[in-house]
Amino acid sequence: MRICIGVFALLLVVQGVCLAAPRVTVTPESPRPGEVLFVTLEPEQELLRAACSWNGRSYPFRFREKSGRYPLALPISADTRPGKHRATVYWKYADGAMGRESITIQVRPRDFGVQRLRLSSSQAKKYSSPDTKREKRLIAAALDRVTPDRLWRGSFVMPVEGRISTPFGIKRYVNGKFSYRHRGVDIAAPEGTPVRAAADGVVALADDSFLLHGKTIVLDHGQGVLSLYLHLSRIEVSVGERVSRGEIIGRVGQTGVATGPHLHFGVYVYHEAVDPFFWMKLPTGRGR
Ligand SMILES: [Zn+2]
Repeated sequence: MRICIGVFALLLVVQGVCLAAPRVTVTPESPRPGEVLFVTLEPEQELLRAACSWNGRSYPFRFREKSGRYPLALPISADTRPGKHRATVYWKYADGAMGRESITIQVRPRDFGVQRLRLSSSQAKKYSSPDTKREKRLIAAALDRVTPDRLWRGSFVMPVEGRISTPFGIKRYVNGKFSYRHRGVDIAAPEGTPVRAAADGVVALADDSFLLHGKTIVLDHGQGVLSLYLHLSRIEVSVGERVSRGEIIGRVGQTGVATGPHLHFGVYVYHEAVDPFFWMKLPTGRGR
């Protein structure tokens, strides 16, 4: 018996398996495409590094809360196929012990629908015009930000009171040809209607020179979560400014390519567009 235990212990050392595995929790249990997976790691001892592999990408746990927990918000792309997916958490403790744990995530089916849009050829051309490269690059750079402080507390608020004219995730055909998936929600409202910050954040981008997106604001809410506001008639904040949930940041307009006054509102997690409405009703335990 003693020999058996010895061999078992040796195997554990050789494989570097750690007995005091961290507690890993994941919510929601069965999300839909376009939603978010909240993964929390609670290590038993000092952590050297840890990451979660999800959908072909590795996301490091970089942010330690005062409680000692490491939170991570992961995007479930709108293109994710329904069915079983695996999130694998890898960790290494400061004493060299390491391990991993795989969690099966059952992604439920979701139909986003189709929208057909007619645009004049000069407007349609703007989607692929080389003149819009600069604005696409600037927006992409802003959405790439991953800053350590989580600024949002509780669910997001609707940035504008109005009618939802285009939902999130719909497949858009422009002049009969598949063009792109709609990566936010469009909220129709009269020109000049106040646009409010959906959550506490810092202004990462405020630019009034864009041909396609129009006057644009990007807010950084921290830990890879950002929100995007397009087609504004006026911008009322500047880069680096700290804003609170509900604070007015601009006005509804139809600048750039738009078929009428509306706000295009997007929420991004690690540069992946997710459903803004998910953030307005965060799962229990996430509304801190
Ligand atoms: Zn839109």
